[in-house]
Amino acid sequence: MNEIILSGRGVVKHFAGLTATDNVDFDIPAGSIYGLIGPNGAGKSTLFNLITGYYDLTGGEIRFKGTSLAGIPTYRRNQMGIARAFQISKPFPALTVRENIRVGAIFGRPEKVDHEKVVDEALAITGIADIADRTAEGLTVGTLRKLEIARAIATRPSLLLADEPCAGLNPTETQEMVNCLRNVRGKGITVWLVEHDMKAVTSICDRILVIDAGRKIAEGTPAEVVSNPNVITAYLGA
Ligand code: ADP
Ligand code: MG
Repeated sequence: MNEIILSGRGVVKHFAGLTATDNVDFDIPAGSIYGLIGPNGAGKSTLFNLITGYYDLTGGEIRFKGTSLAGIPTYRRNQMGIARAFQISKPFPALTVRENIRVGAIFGRPEKVDHEKVVDEALAITGIADIADRTAEGLTVGTLRKLEIARAIATRPSLLLADEPCAGLNPTETQEMVNCLRNVRGKGITVWLVEHDMKAVTSICDRILVIDAGRKIAEGTPAEVVSNPNVITAYLGA
């Protein structure tokens, strides 16, 4: 059994009258690619926001490498090794791809490292070394997504949260993103992935957590969750 890098127990988030996260437990094995799926509004992004510290928990506990994240601000969680890749990448448009990734390297974990080496590795992992010297302005959506992953991994995380990295990508770009995430995991970084594309998520993930209306409805291997009656009901609305 792998070590658990991130765990949640009884995680609850209320917004005014709404329960966006309803008593969710999770255990993310270190070194895995872990999926988080559920219908629109299920609470996937909210769960990620609770892990990064963008939102405070209403109840329960989240532990990263055994340490409770209660009261720890977002930037410190980042320095502890939790990175998030946003769906809408907002690079500095006038800077080159390499310079944008260097910003991630500089603002990452505070240990002494050779930033250029980190940048080169991030370029290689994401497959964008050939455009390293282009400015970020005018890059395609697929390339911007890879740049966002590169910027995030340049901070040298041990856990990468990726919220719908394949959304809006064509089949070729989706496959490239899948390869990119496999490379990230190949470097020993645990990946927690929100993804709508069922084919992508079941092909890449070791285990998947399924939530609906804030509640956990299934957890297991891809084969287990796709055959789970609760999951079929949530997705088909039957
Ligand atoms: P998903 O990412 O699964 O589509 P979200 O986590 O974005 O779902 O949203 C879950 C629920 O929480 C939705 O009903 C959404 O409207 C609500 N919600 C999310 N963020 C906020 C917020 N900051 N204030 C109020 N309600 C929110
Ligand atoms: Mg979302």
